Amino acid sequence: MEELQPLGMPAYTPVNAPVPEGEVVVERGSTAQQFGPKLNRTAADVVRFLLQQGEMVTATQSLSDDMMELFAAEVGAQLKMVDPGEEQEVQLRGRLGLDLVDDDEDYDSLPLRPPVITVMGHVDHGKTKLLDQIRNTNVVAGEAGGITQHIGAYQVEKGGQSITFIDTPGHEAFTAMRARGAEATDIVVLVVAADDGVMPQTLEAIQHARAAEVPIVVAINKIDRAEADPTRVMQQLSERGLIPEAWGGDTIMVEVSALQNFGVDDLLENLLVVSEVEDLRANATGRATGVVLESNLDIGRGPVATVLVQRGTLKVGDPVVAGAAWGKVRALIDDKGKQVKSVGPSTPVQILGLSEVAEAGDDFIVAPSEKVSREVAQTREHWQRQASLGSVPHIAAGGARLEDVFRHIQAGETATLNLILKADVTGSLEALTESLKKLERDDVKLNFVLRGVGGITKSDIQLAAASNATLIGFNVRPDRKVREISHHEGVEIRTYEIIYNVLEDIENAMLGLLAPEFEEVVTGEAEVREIFRVPKVGSIAGCYVLSGTITRNSKVRFLREGTIIWKGTVSSLRRFKDDAREVNTGYECGIGLSDFQDLKQGDTIETFEDREIPRT
Ligand code: GDP
Repeated sequence: MEELQPLGMPAYTPVNAPVPEGEVVVERGSTAQQFGPKLNRTAADVVRFLLQQGEMVTATQSLSDDMMELFAAEVGAQLKMVDPGEEQEVQLRGRLGLDLVDDDEDYDSLPLRPPVITVMGHVDHGKTKLLDQIRNTNVVAGEAGGITQHIGAYQVEKGGQSITFIDTPGHEAFTAMRARGAEATDIVVLVVAADDGVMPQTLEAIQHARAAEVPIVVAINKIDRAEADPTRVMQQLSERGLIPEAWGGDTIMVEVSALQNFGVDDLLENLLVVSEVEDLRANATGRATGVVLESNLDIGRGPVATVLVQRGTLKVGDPVVAGAAWGKVRALIDDKGKQVKSVGPSTPVQILGLSEVAEAGDDFIVAPSEKVSREVAQTREHWQRQASLGSVPHIAAGGARLEDVFRHIQAGETATLNLILKADVTGSLEALTESLKKLERDDVKLNFVLRGVGGITKSDIQLAAASNATLIGFNVRPDRKVREISHHEGVEIRTYEIIYNVLEDIENAMLGLLAPEFEEVVTGEAEVREIFRVPKVGSIAGCYVLSGTITRNSKVRFLREGTIIWKGTVSSLRRFKDDAREVNTGYECGIGLSDFQDLKQGDTIETFEDREIPRT
């Protein structure tokens, strides 16, 4: 490594004073001033040593975990890193009265509660289709007219009993929740396509369900397909210890076609059977506790969190704490978009009125008073900030962008891939992070410079430029201005809508294969100025073309505050009363959107096409 030796700074010379024996407990985010003395060294010793390693810090700046470990190794000390606030958290929970919540004593006398289901399985095996089908065919009549909105979970009725489904399929989200200590799922539905059989992610899902000690019900899907071979699936699953009831085992396997809505009722009935065996109960009275499933910032409504109530009753007006967010519940909105006054166990509900965006997997609890909820949240925030300081990456000397990673690996160096992740909701952010972490290898480390919810902003670009990071947007996009800045700064922005594609690109980069064959090119951008409702036709967006050209039948997406809210094609395009093939910058036009009705003034319409780019 090159030596960075500013003038006037004496070089670090090893000091031979003994270091404390055994593990030295160090809080994340400590400064050299706090850290040095713990190892019988001065702050200056630490600073000089790090300088020699190419890391410039002052005595009062927070050190990263790596820096502290590096120094400890140098002086022969052993560290035990703790998050600041770990002990304080125990006290906070006492303050919330969480230690008072103990229902286990008289479990049998508690009322039954609906089971909470997560759907897992290999990609393309039909998880989403199944969740959609269950939701669409089981919305109680009368409510069917209402728009079922996606709040991260929903409840359906079956023979007078309720079943709750977590609406984020796949084990990434499940694992991310568990990693944060949240146990939200009672039963896992494992979807296996009958025409494809057991695949890698099927096996992963089984492992995750087993690790969580959650019972599995298998849905053998796509039974309508000619190639369907359910017996083969049963055989493959038996080899993994999931033996169907029909063969004397104890795993329920139901043949379904999510596409044709066949067997779905049977599946629901079986879920109720398993639920009964599991004897799921919860206290339905008293202060509510539960877990945050999703959370985002809504322009009109402020921070919105979808929570799953796990015990007690949550009411409008309750003072709540969710992670570092707090507030008085202003409104509760159920999965049918209806305002409700209160909800009980196993019910998903959106909470309005929180101070900030909570994180998926955070627990939430109704506090004894608003004052306590604020104090607890603020104390947590303070400690979280302390903790995060430790992981703030100091621009790593070996930091690499996606395109450079392979070069580093080839040169036999350890490459650190700096990433900035922006996503639409905390759930996908967590899922993405967890999946990405699994790609780490001995010679390729990932360094998350920033992870956040919301559109890609100018400051994200600046941070990416400063830290030599690749910016990844998941279901979010930069607007035109931000795109211009990124070109100017030479920052690469990669946007995705499927986690798998993110992983594939990064993996390919590690293999030196990163040569995207297609590049998405934005061809036109228009601002929505007015919405016209035309009977029988639907909505027409009165737009002003800001840049490029809007062409009929081109691919289009709608953005609200940088977040993708819809994708499709331009179904009709008009200049005044006439149909137009294309409309150029600076003109007004009417854009018709066949099946999207939720457009608002101020939204952006972006058209794009995929262009092939030559391999380099
Ligand atoms: P996911 O990746 O597991 O969420 O899978 P999707 O729900 O997106 O389904 C993948 C593809 O399989 C889609 O094209 C679905 O329309 C199709 N599909 C899902 N269920 C069925 C089924 O029961 N029968 C048939 N023939 N196709 C299905």
